[in-house]
Amino acid sequence: MTISRRNLLGTAAAVAVAVKTARAQKPASAANGPLAISSANGIKAVAKAVDLMSRGADPLDAAIAGVNLVEDDPNDMTVGYGGVPNEEGIVQLDASCMHGPTARAGAVASLEGCKNPSKIAKLVMETTDHVLLVGPGARHFATMNGYPVENLLTEKARKVWLYWKQNLSDKDKWLEPDPDHLDPDVRAFIDEFGWDEFRKPQRGGTIHLSAVTPRGDIAGCTTTSGLFFKMPGRVGDSPIIGAGCFTDNDVGSAGSTGRGEANILVSGGHLAVEMMRQGKHPKDACIEVLKRIAATTRERRLLTKAGRPNFGITFYAVSKNREYGSASMYGLGDTGKPRRFAVADAAGARLEECAHLFERLELK
Ligand code: ASP
Repeated sequence: MTISRRNLLGTAAAVAVAVKTARAQKPASAANGPLAISSANGIKAVAKAVDLMSRGADPLDAAIAGVNLVEDDPNDMTVGYGGVPNEEGIVQLDASCMHGPTARAGAVASLEGCKNPSKIAKLVMETTDHVLLVGPGARHFATMNGYPVENLLTEKARKVWLYWKQNLSDKDKWLEPDPDHLDPDVRAFIDEFGWDEFRKPQRGGTIHLSAVTPRGDIAGCTTTSGLFFKMPGRVGDSPIIGAGCFTDNDVGSAGSTGRGEANILVSGGHLAVEMMRQGKHPKDACIEVLKRIAATTRERRLLTKAGRPNFGITFYAVSKNREYGSASMYGLGDTGKPRRFAVADAAGARLEECAHLFERLELK
């Protein structure tokens, strides 16, 4: 994909990581430049995407190059290489991408042995008549395209999975390890995600990244290892076009992280873009999707005592004219700190606070 160099901003984005609350107005230097937004784990990804777009890259090429940094990072246990495996100890990855200028999309689900499912999703888009390939078919397609089978299960992820299995039940033959002598990798994981929390089926992580070029071309990409210890073959929202990712070059792009099942049921990515089409600011569009999820979450097992969703989910959106925003079901994360998203433009890359529907998740 090529793009004319005429419309490019000359200045490359400076990568300055700063935490700021949402600004009412962007500085003049950023007003017409490239912009990328992502989940908080994508601070380097948005910087990379903006840097590439400022040098003329297509928005999807930029988005994929950005999320590849996170897919390749063994220390991000929610995406790509090093992701937490399914209940059988196998890493199965989901990804999707959508290219606004050509209104095309591609996706893969339950892909094994390839740390960059976003690249395979883009190949599905560019080289096939299909939108979504899954499981062995997706694997075969990756092999045909020269991607060898790689072992994605890092030692840390393997130990965490084994620890989960050992603690699953007191009715099986596994013995629970002594909590006072935990393996340091397992201890580090518990410190990051909590233990009671990560045993819940909704625990996981993802990166979504939406990007817009100086001339207003838009793309989005979402990639994940899905929910921790999911059932083999379980597919979340990330590879579902219209749920985990949706882009319309006339309007904007949106995507999500969090409990995928809840998003699939409302087609949240598409809904956010439709809200923007009706004139809503991206942040308010995200809030509207969260309201829809809250209103349609009716099963008791998914509700708190107060009748609110008992899971986290966050949406990210950017409009064609570079307004952006993110909103989370709960403003405070598990650690009690405000949830954030990453954004980069000509003024640099930074984390900003997500808007929210409810303040804090109270389970008891
Ligand atoms: N949305 C991802 C999924 O459902 C997981 C997450 O972001 O936490 O697979």
